[in-house]
Amino acid sequence: MIVTILTTISAGMPLSCQRDVVMVQDGVRDYGPLLDKTPIVRVLLIKDKREAQLAIRGSYQIAGSLTNIIDQGQGLPRCAISVSKGGINIGNRLYGNSELRITSRQDGEIELNNVRYRGEIRILQQSNDKFSVIEEVDLEGFIAGVLGSEMPQSWNEDALRAQAVTARTYAMYKKKVRRGEVYHLDMLELAYKGIAGETARLNKIVQETKGIVMVYNWNIFPAYFHSTCGGHTENCNHVFGKDGIPPLSGVSCNYCENSKHSYWSTNISKAEIEKKLRVANIHVSNISTVKTVNPGAGNHGARVEIASAYGSKEMNANDFRLLVGPNNLMSTAFHAKNNGNSITFSGRGWGHGVGLCQYGAQAMAEKGFEWTAILQHYYPQIELVRLY
Ligand SMILES: [Zn+2]
Repeated sequence: MIVTILTTISAGMPLSCQRDVVMVQDGVRDYGPLLDKTPIVRVLLIKDKREAQLAIRGSYQIAGSLTNIIDQGQGLPRCAISVSKGGINIGNRLYGNSELRITSRQDGEIELNNVRYRGEIRILQQSNDKFSVIEEVDLEGFIAGVLGSEMPQSWNEDALRAQAVTARTYAMYKKKVRRGEVYHLDMLELAYKGIAGETARLNKIVQETKGIVMVYNWNIFPAYFHSTCGGHTENCNHVFGKDGIPPLSGVSCNYCENSKHSYWSTNISKAEIEKKLRVANIHVSNISTVKTVNPGAGNHGARVEIASAYGSKEMNANDFRLLVGPNNLMSTAFHAKNNGNSITFSGRGWGHGVGLCQYGAQAMAEKGFEWTAILQHYYPQIELVRLY
């Protein structure tokens, strides 16, 4: 599950023998630029849709997949994107291409479904009369948008810096493992609202950590994060069934006790649970008990056992939570009680529990820990390196 950040890093001698290492900030190693420039990431904005709204403020260009410019203009009033057999329609104009690339002269002038984006927009026609839209954006611009969506903007700067490095590490990992695919990231993985999430304060914080990522043993890894762990973060292997590494093995967290998500309770009707599981072809009826199986150090169940009129079924606990509704069933660290027509779930924390605990990071920052110490706590044995 971990991949080497750069082939140049993995090949040959350890880097420390090849270059002079400069400690640019406490705990951050700078080996000189390892990448020539800021990487571009491909983010899936719209998937499998028949229609979307597009507007462009300033001057723009539209190119086909071969980057030959086929149209240009000055401002495009809001209009619909759709596809037909002949190609892609933007407003009343049909372009006989199965892919269009739209660029604006200035950042943030392209608006898709009321959200403004920095990068180049690619519309990809699919065979089913639908299309998807991908943004190609500079990683730093993307992180600025993610930061404003993933953490309250008013939080402590060190918590926000830790979050920026976490999101950058995660994005670089996805760019590596999906390098041959149409897109690297979708908005289910990292919340992103284009430039709507940016503020001058957040942009400054992103700039201060520019190019810095976490590595373990010179490998970049999926730096998962979540809202509130509830006392102990969870081993990645336990939650996602993937190979564990020390930075994702779980640590105790005495910092998120005051999170509003530390303890929760919710009542969900059996009919609703049954309906939601049916979507994934899991059939239960008249549930009698729901039990977590094999809880980890943070009490998050690896699996759940559902006893119903159809017998007992076991499934992955995280999948169960995502199906029932992750904002309703806030974590898999729960106990369930049968109330007749409904089940009351009482639990701790919000999210899968792996990696950085955001409320814990905020409490650590408020206590005076710097972002590097926060990351070293939640991801043991990492090194912080500047890639560019
Ligand atoms: Zn925590």
